[in-house]
Amino acid sequence: MKIHEYQARQLLADAGIPVPEGMMVQSIEEAKSAAKSLFEQGSTMLVVKAQVHAGGRGKAGFVKLCRTPEEVDDAATFMLSNPMVSAQTGSDGLEVTKLLIADGVDIDKEFYLAITTDRGGGTNALIASSEGGVEIETVAHENPDAILTVPICPLAGLEPFQARQLAFDLGFTGKQVGQAMNIMLKLVALVNDTDASLAEINPLIVTPESEEYPDGRLLAIDAKFNFDDNALFRHPNLQAMFDPTEENEAELRASEFDLSFIALDGNIGCLVNGAGLAMATMDIIKLHGGSPANFLDVGGSATLETVTEAFKIILSDDKVEGVLVNIFGGIMQCDVIAEAIVAAAKGVGFTVPLVVRLEGTNVDVAREILNAAQSELPTMQTAIDLEDAAIKVATAVSAACA
Ligand code: ADP
Ligand code: MG
Repeated sequence: MKIHEYQARQLLADAGIPVPEGMMVQSIEEAKSAAKSLFEQGSTMLVVKAQVHAGGRGKAGFVKLCRTPEEVDDAATFMLSNPMVSAQTGSDGLEVTKLLIADGVDIDKEFYLAITTDRGGGTNALIASSEGGVEIETVAHENPDAILTVPICPLAGLEPFQARQLAFDLGFTGKQVGQAMNIMLKLVALVNDTDASLAEINPLIVTPESEEYPDGRLLAIDAKFNFDDNALFRHPNLQAMFDPTEENEAELRASEFDLSFIALDGNIGCLVNGAGLAMATMDIIKLHGGSPANFLDVGGSATLETVTEAFKIILSDDKVEGVLVNIFGGIMQCDVIAEAIVAAAKGVGFTVPLVVRLEGTNVDVAREILNAAQSELPTMQTAIDLEDAAIKVATAVSAACA
């Protein structure tokens, strides 16, 4: 599960990591009154930031520094009425319905600090760079030596000496070292406590020196978290942060029916049982020149109701120009799938080519059901095996598109 920046900032602040003050707003009016109260509290510069589950906002014009209430008004109006398109969104971009109005800060230098799983090492790792602010993928590509990685022992956690060494290696000096160590150690604890699979502060900034902070002050001004869905039941406070408006509608609907559904970019809808078979099905569709529109695993315990819903989800996608059903009935019974195909044909109708490959438990009954319903399934072809099915659906879709 992903959360918004304003929620991530709250988690950081609660964990004792310094974050500038800010408020989430959902309208231009709210933006104006948030700006008014922050300016009244003494802020001289505010930042307006689109709250969407994608980065690259700065470059896309969806992070704007504002010095007057009018500038906040303009920035909020622009962001709430234009989709945000960045390297991390599709070309249609994302609709923005939430904004963060936060204290602007003077920046002396930007750093990158993150924790994620190092699968090779079998541990979490702290990843840091003195070239923060920009996308870390660019740094990794152009200057890989600028990225420092420190493994975190699963039992001992991050040791203070490791944090101190990393702070020195990043070039922090004087009182900055203690501040950096504090942030690193608290971030490690926060990741542990929340079962996060990713925590990223980018940028972690140093302010110019001031009377109160002669060596400058370290602040987190952008943050991103991903959480392990399997551990969410332990964290009702995180569950409450879930924002369904940021999710793919079809994926959300599928999850209500306990279906594993992932939307993809192609045009062949796939209904398969078992993740392994689903992966193999997508591979073989690709091999024969087709392109899957989704990954849908109905699992072993699906019922007529859930499988019928699965077909409805697939068929409601405008991009779907053909459907492939590939079922190897073990626990799943082929006749349930056949009944669901007929129910979907009656409910929504298959106007696109449909290729069905069924094998296993109750396959004979299933074939009888499909044969009896042939008049309701004019676009259906049956296939004798997986390869035959993939060829048939890829051919039918390319013929229909030609
Ligand atoms: P994204 O990662 O989506 O581009 P960021 O929040 O990291 O968004 O903002 C991009 C850049 O905007 C930052 O690297 C920083 O230079 C500037 N910025 C962001 N927040 C502030 C702030 N509170 N004060 C001053 N500058 C900011
Ligand atoms: Mg950022």
